[in-house]
Amino acid sequence: MNKIKVGVLGATGMVGQQYIKLLAQHPWFEVAYVAASPGSAGKTYRDAVSGRWQMAFDVPEKVADLVVQDANNANLAEKKCVFVFSALDMDKQKTRELENAYAAIGIPVVSNASAHRSSDDVPMLIPEINHEHISIIAAQRSKHGWQKGFVAVKPNCSLQSYMTPVFALLQAGYEVRKMIITTMQAVSGAGYPGVPSLDMIDNIVPLIGGEEEKSEMEPCKILGHVVDGHIVNDESIKISAHCNRVPVVDGHTACVSLEFGDKKPALDEIKKIWRDFRALPQELNLPSAPLQPIIYREEANRPQPRKDRDADKGMAVSVGRLRQCNVFDIRFVGLSHNTVRGAAGGGILNAELLKAKGYFD
Ligand code: NAP
Repeated sequence: MNKIKVGVLGATGMVGQQYIKLLAQHPWFEVAYVAASPGSAGKTYRDAVSGRWQMAFDVPEKVADLVVQDANNANLAEKKCVFVFSALDMDKQKTRELENAYAAIGIPVVSNASAHRSSDDVPMLIPEINHEHISIIAAQRSKHGWQKGFVAVKPNCSLQSYMTPVFALLQAGYEVRKMIITTMQAVSGAGYPGVPSLDMIDNIVPLIGGEEEKSEMEPCKILGHVVDGHIVNDESIKISAHCNRVPVVDGHTACVSLEFGDKKPALDEIKKIWRDFRALPQELNLPSAPLQPIIYREEANRPQPRKDRDADKGMAVSVGRLRQCNVFDIRFVGLSHNTVRGAAGGGILNAELLKAKGYFD
């Protein structure tokens, strides 16, 4: 099968590098176009990332000699790739305009940036949870007059650690009324070079700008429904989030307490629901889909970032420490790889779903 040519915007950054690494072996997609800031434009990819390449994997030969283009000029990507992954870190308004500019010239955008997450005609996908939100793309195209282009996004990286386990319980018929989340987020989540080492070593920073707001808002959209060309949020769960930056390289951990409605599942039943949970990416056998999306660890001291972040290619969520809660009903710990499941791997899974559903035809 001929591979689909793809572009990576923000290819030189933390998430962009993860895209380059993961796409090097991809069975459906090949990187044909790389773009970043005007400061990197004109250099070969190898030179642009020299001294700041963060992957434990050499720059793939096929990408090393591509000349980095200025991501701000969407026209440069025309005829070079079928769609782009966006891993840009720039002003939100500019990002929205730029992603729209790519879509307007017929290049779909599968984005990691937060700029479009609150647009009610842009699907914010975790394919195991809300794959049906891709149907909003028809309304998005007709609103903008786009023929082939569209924008689809993925949510904030820390949400992946707990939203699939929570969704599995909702799907099994258990209402969740309240949720308190305390995250311990890795430094790679701040991009490169990220948080200064003197702020991070021997320390915890109890603030990640804007992250608590995203953690409280984004689940409402993910659990929402497509109604008359809009995604209508589901605000039935009351959420309170504390987000902390911790001295871990990769892997976001979340301690979660849940209050159920009147029907409350037993702990053993919850473990079974999590272990048995499968969804469309598994049914479609998408190349990046984890075989088992939620892995329950029985060891009393797991999950841990160093030991569990790479579970099933870094695409599975590891959970553990499920127990009764003295204030709500249950509590548990969830963990996922922030630059894989939470960023590039999640973006690639979204693109695989869109490809399988014919959105790049
Ligand atoms: P990063 O390491 O700082 O990389 C940012 C990228 O954006 C670089 O390629 C940079 O190019 C490019 N860029 C910056 N300013 C630009 C401009 N004015 N015009 C064009 N390109 C510009 O950030 P990151 O961590 O990879 O994050 C990328 C995006 O993914 C962000 O929107 C972030 O919120 C989101 N995200 C990150 C994570 C994570 O775990 N890190 C997880 C989920 C989502 P140069 O190298 O040329 O400066």
